[in-house]
Amino acid sequence: MNLGSDNLAGASPKIMAALVEAAHGTQNPYGQDDLSTAARTALNQAFEAHAEIFFVGTGTAANALALAQISKPWSAIFCHATAHINEAEAGAPESLTGGAKIVGIEGAGGKIDVAGLKAAANRFRKGWQPHVQPAVLSLSQVTECGTLYQPGELGALCAFAHEQGLKVHLDGARFANALVALDGTPAELSWKAGIDVLCLGATKDGAMACEAIMFFDPALADEFTWRIKRAGHVLSKGRLLGAQMLAWLDQDHWLDLARQANAMAAQLQAGLSEIEGVELAWPVEANEIFVWLPAALQQRLRAANITYAPWSTSGTSFNGRLPQEGVFARFVTSFATTPDMIKTLLRVATSS
Ligand SMILES: *Cc1c(COP(=O)(O)O)cnc(C)c1O
Repeated sequence: MNLGSDNLAGASPKIMAALVEAAHGTQNPYGQDDLSTAARTALNQAFEAHAEIFFVGTGTAANALALAQISKPWSAIFCHATAHINEAEAGAPESLTGGAKIVGIEGAGGKIDVAGLKAAANRFRKGWQPHVQPAVLSLSQVTECGTLYQPGELGALCAFAHEQGLKVHLDGARFANALVALDGTPAELSWKAGIDVLCLGATKDGAMACEAIMFFDPALADEFTWRIKRAGHVLSKGRLLGAQMLAWLDQDHWLDLARQANAMAAQLQAGLSEIEGVELAWPVEANEIFVWLPAALQQRLRAANITYAPWSTSGTSFNGRLPQEGVFARFVTSFATTPDMIKTLLRVATSS
């Protein structure tokens, strides 16, 4: 059992069946196929939007291409210091933007607040030649710490960003997990809150590889079609992506998959919390658990071949603890995690 990430799981059978079905017949290439067209319509329905929508195969491509579209090479892009675009994309955003400066902002629990954003933005004077020019606020929902921005927090950040003339990008690799955890509609948690561009990830929520880039103001997508083609991210057989997205959205399948992942995280969190020496780093609000495991527990899990992702303690209260005391771990549950798996894990964790 390996709960290190939600991309370790395969894909939902419903999505795989749709892919098999999509292999039949002829279709227009390059995203102009019937399935991609229907998927764009379905997404706009789900989001009550009139967005310009593009599909790509990775979240890194989605983020980097979206950021490139709303920035210039001499722009500043603000994000949390731990953001995926800052720490886990090998410089793809810097590369595809032509060198925009990613400015990481500290904040508790993986979240930026308005004061932190304000302080960061004030470091760069508008119109002053030596400074990069503030252009984008990039947020992650779910955050890199497994926490959530409440709708009010999202709204306040977006309002301040827009006041400053920034566009707002949302890295929604786990947007579905956030959506089912929060009280709000897809529209309320995106464009109605002030998100200009959403990178909506299906991959970690049951697809094999599919991410949507949604420009809620179609004008923002001007000439994006060349940017994405030039970067080599337009699939000849676009139905590969359209089929997955359509099946993912059909009858709220995406929400069911995310609910399963979140429910399993809640069960795991509840069980782990009762074990002596286990300490949670942040509240478990979606499908990720960041937790200190004492050495004895670490050994029991290792002996049972139960794997998690060892995580950096930097910025946590666990910083400075010795390796022999235990390990800081990330568990991520997915649509494929079952109650039996959680039971097994907890049985091993509590055995002596
Ligand atoms: C997984 C993930 C992505 C997408 O990563 P790819 O591996 O490129 O698909 C983007 N943002 C966050 C927060 C993620 O966890």
